[in-house]
Amino acid sequence: MYLLRCIECGENFENELIYTCPKCGGLLEVVFDVSNADFRLDGNNVTLWKYRSLLPVRIEPVTLFEGGTPLYPVDVDVDARVFVKHEGLNPSGSFKDRGMTVGVTKALELGMKSVACASTGNTSASMAMYSARAGLRAYVLLPSGKVALGKLAQAMMHGARVIAIRGNFDVALKLVREISERKGLYLLNSVNPFRLEGQKTIAFEIVDQLGHAPDAVFVPVGNAGNISAIYKGFLELREAGYIDEIPKMIGVQAEGANPIYRAFVEGKDSIEPVENPETIATAIRIGAPVNARKALRAVYSSKGKVLQVSDEEIVSAQKMLAKQGIGVEPASASSLAGLLKEDSDFDTVVCIATGNLLKDPEEVMRVSGTPVEVDANISEIERLI
Ligand SMILES: *Cc1c(COP(=O)(O)O)cnc(C)c1O
Ligand SMILES: [Zn+2]
Repeated sequence: MYLLRCIECGENFENELIYTCPKCGGLLEVVFDVSNADFRLDGNNVTLWKYRSLLPVRIEPVTLFEGGTPLYPVDVDVDARVFVKHEGLNPSGSFKDRGMTVGVTKALELGMKSVACASTGNTSASMAMYSARAGLRAYVLLPSGKVALGKLAQAMMHGARVIAIRGNFDVALKLVREISERKGLYLLNSVNPFRLEGQKTIAFEIVDQLGHAPDAVFVPVGNAGNISAIYKGFLELREAGYIDEIPKMIGVQAEGANPIYRAFVEGKDSIEPVENPETIATAIRIGAPVNARKALRAVYSSKGKVLQVSDEEIVSAQKMLAKQGIGVEPASASSLAGLLKEDSDFDTVVCIATGNLLKDPEEVMRVSGTPVEVDANISEIERLI
C-alpha cells in the first residue's frame, strides 16, 4: 500500500522505525499507490480523515477531529482572488495537529510508549495534546525564553515533560534526535515522514473546498516540513487525476531567519544555516531547517519561489487579517505579507494561516497596546465613545 523511500538515493525501506536513510542519511518520504484514493473532492464532509485512503496508518486513528478548517475569502489590495486557510482553528490551534493525528497514531501502531520533539512551541502543544489522548508519555525540548506563552501553557497542561534548554531551536532539535535514539522515544519532529503525510491534507482540503487547484499557495516556512507536505499533497492529487496542474509553491521566511530564501536566490538546492535566527514570528525562528532540500525541490518543481518579509510587514499583515475577523499569530501572517510584496498575475491564491492569535498573547499586547482605564462612571465612559 505504501513504503518509505529515500529522496536522495531512491532506496526503499519496509522498516518504518527510521527517520532518515540508513544508507545515505537522506530524508525519507512515504510513497503511495494513489490509485487507492477513494474520496471525492466535492466539498462535502471536509475533515482530515476523509482522506484516509492516502494516509499511512493501519489502526484506528487517534483523532481530535482536526482538519476541515475554513477557507475564507479576504479583501486585500491585489488583483487575484485571495483565500486564507485558517489552520489556527485546528484543535490545538495550529496545522501541527494534522501531522500529530497521523504521527501519534503511528507511534501506537509501532508499539512505542513515549514520544518526543523539539519545538518552537506549536509542535509541543499539539504533541502534548495528542499523546494525552493516546495515553503516551511526551517529552519536549524547547528553546528557553523563546516560546510563546499560549503554546507553553498547552504543553504544560496536557502533561508533557517540558525541558527548556539554554540554546535555540536548532540545538534543541539536534539534542532531541540524539536522545530519542538513545532512549527509544518516537521522534515527532517534521523529519518524521509520517507526520508530513497528515499535513499534505491541507492540499486535499484546498481543492476540496475551492473546487479546483489555485494558481499559487503561500506558506510560512520555518523547518520547511509544511511546504514540502502541501506540495506532495498536490502531486498526489495530480497523479490520481483530481487536478491537472500543481500550484506554484511560494515559501515565505522572516528576514532574520531566512536560510531557504538565501538558497533560492542563489539557485542552490541546499542551505547554509543562519547562526542566530531572530524574528518576532517565533514559530519560524529557525536557522537550519531540516526539510530544506525537500522544500527547495517543491519550490523549483512547481515554478514557485521563496520570499522574505520583515517583522514590520508581518505585524501589518497580522493586523490586516484581524480587521477581517481572522486572528492569527505572527508567523501565520507571513504568507499574506509575502503575497502583498509579490505582484504576479495570479487568478486564485491561497495563503496558509498556520496558527491562532491566542498562541502569542504577549506579542499581541506589544503591537496592539493596552486598554484605556477610567473611573467607573458614565461620563468618563461617554467621553470615550
Ligand atoms: C510550525 C509552524 C510554522 C512552520 O512550519 P514548518 O513546517 O516548520 O516550515 C509556521 N507557522 C506556525 C504557526 C507554526 O506552528
Ligand atoms: Zn538514501
